[in-house]
Parts: sequence; structure tokens; C-alpha cells
Amino acid sequence: MSIRSLLSKLGGLQLAVLLVLGSSVTARPQIDTGYGQLPVFEFHSGFWLNLHLTLYQEARKRLLPPAQTERGAKASGPALKALSDPASGLSDSERRAWEDALAYYAANFSSKDLLFAGEMVQLKNQLGDFEDCADLSGSKQRFCNAGLDTKLTKVLEGAAPVYRAHQWRDHDRANRRWVLRVAPLVRERGVGLSQRLADIYQTQWPRHKIRVDIAAYANWAGAYTTLDPLAVTISSTDPRNQGSTALEVLFHEASHGIAQPVESAIIRECRQRDKAIPRDLWHALVFYTTGEVIRPIMVNAADGANGEAGAGDSEGGAPGGSAPSAYKPYAVREGLYRRNWDDYLQLLSRFWQPYLDGQATFEDAIARMVSAL
Ligand SMILES: [Zn+2]
Repeated sequence: MSIRSLLSKLGGLQLAVLLVLGSSVTARPQIDTGYGQLPVFEFHSGFWLNLHLTLYQEARKRLLPPAQTERGAKASGPALKALSDPASGLSDSERRAWEDALAYYAANFSSKDLLFAGEMVQLKNQLGDFEDCADLSGSKQRFCNAGLDTKLTKVLEGAAPVYRAHQWRDHDRANRRWVLRVAPLVRERGVGLSQRLADIYQTQWPRHKIRVDIAAYANWAGAYTTLDPLAVTISSTDPRNQGSTALEVLFHEASHGIAQPVESAIIRECRQRDKAIPRDLWHALVFYTTGEVIRPIMVNAADGANGEAGAGDSEGGAPGGSAPSAYKPYAVREGLYRRNWDDYLQLLSRFWQPYLDGQATFEDAIARMVSAL
């Protein structure tokens, strides 16, 4: 049982005691950016989640033949150093512990999708809740009993010292660096962007800060978002998330939590017109919208952001050119329209853009898009 679900079952006094005992219970930003409290998001670089995702990634890579990239993801994300690599410098006992963990992950998790398998989502949330704990069994501090499966607890606690000694410092540093780079724009533009996006989707932006877990590895797409509770996971090392694109990735992911009205409106219009519901049109729309809303900001911030992109450890992190007008939205840069959504891009430019420009209503824009399908 996660702490969240546990809390919902407890009354006031017990809740207060738990809140005092368990620092990880309270949602709070974990990464200090030096700017004080940031608006809109709270960023975390959690040990257990990073360990979990590293094991998942390493175990999964063994399952897939090298040539097979997942769902056509570009270069299938970051090239992470694998601890199982003979050159990684593990002692024999460390290697055994790491291999045991990989075998467990291969058998239990590597065929499951991090976003679509409920079990993986729950596990991610639980490991986030216990990010400050030294163990997960509660043997050192009782409130650190994460309530995970006994075997999994043993596997993670067995792999933890290996990961801590050989990889965690690099991963944590990359995570914090990613946050530090995006923090100034979040501080200056975060509130305005969140309001603008909520207005566009005709809804409210969540009142609480959205939890963003930064990890060396996220999933095949480099970032994903889970709902109830709304939580974003972003890879700090994925080439697709670097430089000026970082802010867009952040707001694209968060938009998954508020874009429901668009999806519903598209479905409604399709049903009224007896048309098949177009797969992913709403997702293309979210990509398009975030890109268009971010673009003017990146034009202004281009000098700083592009400079930072060059300093990153990624290839392809910097946009095509350094001229301010060169900012390319994520979907353009990563070829998403070109690969699958060319028709959608036409529809969005023709019918959705006027709505973004204040020249059409939400309802009209959706209706026109659907009737042109
Ligand atoms: Zn998305």
C-alpha cells in the first residue's frame, strides 16, 4: 500500500503523527535551485526511483536486440553506461547483487510498460514517496516500510549499495543540472504559461504544484506522465530533452493532466458526425499547442537557452541554428509530424491556429478540424 492510499484511510491524529514522522509524506520540492520556491512544479531527484528505472532500462535492453529501437524512438533515448558492463569496475559481490536485481527485473518488469501498466505506475509513485529513506523495509526507520513485495524490497536493497557507489552520483548530478537549467524560465514564465495553457484547454491548471521526477532514464519516449495523482517523469540524459526543448517537454507533459477537454470534444464531434475517432489527434494537438505557446518565449530566451544546450552532454541537443527564429517545437524537431501526423499538422495549422490567435472559438476550431477529417 502506498503512503498516499494509507493516508486516505487514516484519521486526523494518526495522519498528524505520520506527517511528523515521515518527511517523505509531505510533497515538497526536493531540488533546491537557488531561486527559492519555483512556481507550478516541484522537482525531485529520488534515489529509489532512479535505481528502479536504471534496473528497468538495463534489464529491458537485454531483452531487445540492439537494432530494435522501441516504437521507433529516435536512438531509443540516452546511451547510459550499464553497470553490468565488464568495464564498470564492480567487485564480484557487487556484480552478483546487480545481476540478481537485473534477473528479477527481466523476469518481472521488463515486458511491462512504465506508463500503461498500472503496477509500474503504482511502484513509481511508491518509490517517489520513499525517496528520502535509507531502506525500503523499514528496518532502520519504521516509517520507511514501503510495503513493497518482500522479494522486490530485497532486490532493491541489495542493488542499492552498488548503484550508490558506482552510478547514483552521476545520475543525481545530471538530474540536478537539468533542473538548474530550466529553473530560470520556470520561475519567470511558469505561471503565465500554465494559465495560458489552461485557458486554451478551457480548464483549470492544478492548484497544487505538479510533481516532476527527474531520472537518468524515463521511458522509451524520454518522458511520461501519469494521472491520479498527476506526476511527470523526465529523463535528464535523453538528448531529446536538452537545451531549449526542456521547457517545452515539461509543459507538454504537464498538459497531459489538463488536455482532457480537447480529447472529449474531438470524440463528441466525431460521434455527432458519425466519423471514426482519429487516433492521437488530441496528442498531436497538445504537441502543437505547447510548441506554439513556448515558441515566442524561446525566441526571447534563445541566447541563454541555446548557449546552455551547447554545454550539455547530449548530441543533437541544440536546435538547428542559433538565430532566435530558429526555435523548432519538439514535434517538428523530432519529426513526429513528418513520420505519422502530417495530415494532423495541416488540420492544426488551418483550424486550431486561428483559435490560438483568438480568431475562432474552441468549439468551432474542433468542429472544423473534425469535419475536415
Ligand atoms: Zn505527450
